[in-house]
Amino acid sequence: MFTDKDTFKQHFQEQFVGQLGKPLKEATSEDIYKVIGSMIREEVGKFWAQTNTSYRESGEKQVYYLSLEFLMGRLLGNNLLNLGALNVVRAGLSELGWDLEEIEEQEADAGLGNGGLGRLAACFMDSLASLQYAGHGCGIRYKYGLFEQRIVDGNQVELPDYWLQRGNVWEERRYDKRVEVSFWGRVETREENGRLVFDTVDAEGIWAVPYDVPLIGFGGRHINTLRIWSAEASENAVRQGMQAGGSYYKYLDYSRTVESITEFLYPDDSQYEGKLLRLKQQYFLCSAGLQSILRTFDKLELPYEELPNKVAIHINDTHPTLVIPELMRILIDMKGYGWDEAWSIVTRTVSYTNHTILSEALEKWPVVMVKDLLPRVYMIIEEINKRFCAELMEKYPDQPDRIAQMAVIHDDQVRMAHLAINGSHSINGVSQLHTDILKEKEMRSFYELYPERFNNKTNGITHRRWLMHANPELSRLYTESMGDGWMTNPYELSQILNYKEDAGFRQRIQQIKLRNKQKLAAYISHKFDTSVDPTSIFDVQVKRLHGYKRQLMNILHVMHLYNEIKANPSIDRVPRTFIFGAKAAPSYYLAKRIIKLINTVAETVNRDPQVRGKLKVFFLENYSVSLAERIIPAADISEQISTASKEASGTGNMKFMMNGALTIGTMDGANVEMYEMLGAENMFIFGLNAEQVNNYYQNGQYSSAGVLARDSRIAQVINQLIQPGPFCTHENEFEEIYHSLISHNDEYFVLEDFADYARAHRDIDAAYRDTENWTRKSIANLAHSGRFASDNTIHEYAREIWKLAEKKQLSMMNI
Ligand SMILES: *Cc1c(COP(=O)(O)O)cnc(C)c1O
Repeated sequence: MFTDKDTFKQHFQEQFVGQLGKPLKEATSEDIYKVIGSMIREEVGKFWAQTNTSYRESGEKQVYYLSLEFLMGRLLGNNLLNLGALNVVRAGLSELGWDLEEIEEQEADAGLGNGGLGRLAACFMDSLASLQYAGHGCGIRYKYGLFEQRIVDGNQVELPDYWLQRGNVWEERRYDKRVEVSFWGRVETREENGRLVFDTVDAEGIWAVPYDVPLIGFGGRHINTLRIWSAEASENAVRQGMQAGGSYYKYLDYSRTVESITEFLYPDDSQYEGKLLRLKQQYFLCSAGLQSILRTFDKLELPYEELPNKVAIHINDTHPTLVIPELMRILIDMKGYGWDEAWSIVTRTVSYTNHTILSEALEKWPVVMVKDLLPRVYMIIEEINKRFCAELMEKYPDQPDRIAQMAVIHDDQVRMAHLAINGSHSINGVSQLHTDILKEKEMRSFYELYPERFNNKTNGITHRRWLMHANPELSRLYTESMGDGWMTNPYELSQILNYKEDAGFRQRIQQIKLRNKQKLAAYISHKFDTSVDPTSIFDVQVKRLHGYKRQLMNILHVMHLYNEIKANPSIDRVPRTFIFGAKAAPSYYLAKRIIKLINTVAETVNRDPQVRGKLKVFFLENYSVSLAERIIPAADISEQISTASKEASGTGNMKFMMNGALTIGTMDGANVEMYEMLGAENMFIFGLNAEQVNNYYQNGQYSSAGVLARDSRIAQVINQLIQPGPFCTHENEFEEIYHSLISHNDEYFVLEDFADYARAHRDIDAAYRDTENWTRKSIANLAHSGRFASDNTIHEYAREIWKLAEKKQLSMMNI
């Protein structure tokens, strides 16, 4: 179908008429999108089936990546890329008068995630399939993904993201594979052949219906599965309801209540929501996922002692931790295993990734909630806790505090991280610094107890989406210069270091960056109806809005730059365009005020003729995967400025690096590992390090008011938050922000790091003037970015955590 342009065109024209029953000349872009989508589905169907058959026949170990979030973005372009059909389809469509990029725009982003954690899951799916591992995703098919953000009068307004409105060409509903998930009820105990047996009675059973999405590996032959589950009322409930004299309307109400379980994604990033519905979502995923995993395992007709050799279950953060007690329940109550045997099977099967040390993100469920919703599961959690505390008691007989501090159940709460550590054989952090902090501080007592379980797996990103698809011109230059080996072995990107001193190559790099900037400038110009200078420095911070990520420091610094120009209009500065993109959790008030501040500053700066040509500020609404793909290839500067120790890894930092932006950043998360490779000459590092931040928290000697007293530039900016002037229409307009910095002593050290941040920005200004040297730095970033390809990360997970058989190195020869 996709072998060459003419074959494609012929198939496409036939399919179009066949599927839509109208002539091609009446086509809309959406029609074209749907037809190409269905052609891809048809093309890969055979290989999808073959991949599954080969799994069944070989009996090779299967990995299931359980995650409440998969931030997939659009699939059309990446599927075409991995099928090797991108150029054929682009050329074929072009001859028919259509532009592929415009067709791609028809697809709704699959926004089933909040930010980094969900995007990591998506990058991992691409790497697993491309490296031909037997690895699948298991998630929830939310009817509404992450809200759509609009900016109205400078404020964030949330709109529902009904991404399924126009259908979803990629998914396959598999009603025959539905399973039942039970909530509520009570546990009855009886004796059977000298054994205690537990039955849950009066439970409410609902259907979990799977929808399968093919995950097309690079080369198009290896197809894994993303299985996302949707909640539906079961006929049983209907029948029982009717027998009990329920009305038709009551049933409709009931049905809606059931469906509400998979209605929407919780929009909180690095913040925990203790709502019952969220707990329901978590158990729904764990129960449905496990049933389908075990059904596949059962086909092998092996005893469950073999489960850890055939199945690895990985949990993405603590959200799916209930798989641990749920698998215990199945093994004990349904398969007849004793506690110790079952526990050994579970702990050898499950592994866990920790994503954050922010205390507000740690999941703790009230005991009463878990007990009511999941009575039998709760009994098992209680038993896990009892046995764990006994183990601790034996080990640390004279340290009762330590036992309380480590227990799974404490203060009438179930601590999910403790349960996850207890029930898995591997606990990994997502960057070296983050893992070190886990071991030395946050989870120190667990590390002392189980040192062999802790390990690091630094995050990665798929170079297929973030380089090949997002930056096709750069990809073309690579292949022209050094062949296509880098596509299957991204470490080969380091070969471009050979061209660093080649003036012609540097010029090509400069031209590509300029063209990417021109494209983004056109997009922004169109949105804001204003001109954007593509030769100015594009300085970008795009990520979720959060105190620790310090968008506030960035915008305060922009205010300072504005003040500087106003005080000295002839000041010599390289023109800058600051670009922001960030969604705030709807309930995160301070974050929303920061969005308002950014938009207020943008308005003042952009309409002031005195700074025209020197400074511009834009807040691009609705930051999402597809918007990221537009913005990142056009960035000169990547802002990775979190308070040291707070950002577990970051993956945005890696995307920018892979597109040749230079980073201004703190020694936090994976920035540290970038710095180890790039050195001070290729990165702009500033600010407190993790140890200094920790010392401040420990000794309490930080005073933000003290910083103000010492630095008049900061004092001026801070006053502008509350006094009518360029950024404040009325008194105290931004008083909450002001108070977070002054009355609440600046939890994230924005003021403390401000001076060094401003210094680093001056270094950027100086460095950018030397175009050739700047390009050399950019090339160093590009060259070392292969290290952060998720293919490497996945090889490490496969080898060290999941214990999969080695895969031979792929090459373009066998793709
Ligand atoms: C990569 C990505 C993130 C994560 O960005 P960080 O800078 O690592 O926080 C969040 N949202 C989207 C849409 C992304 O593509």
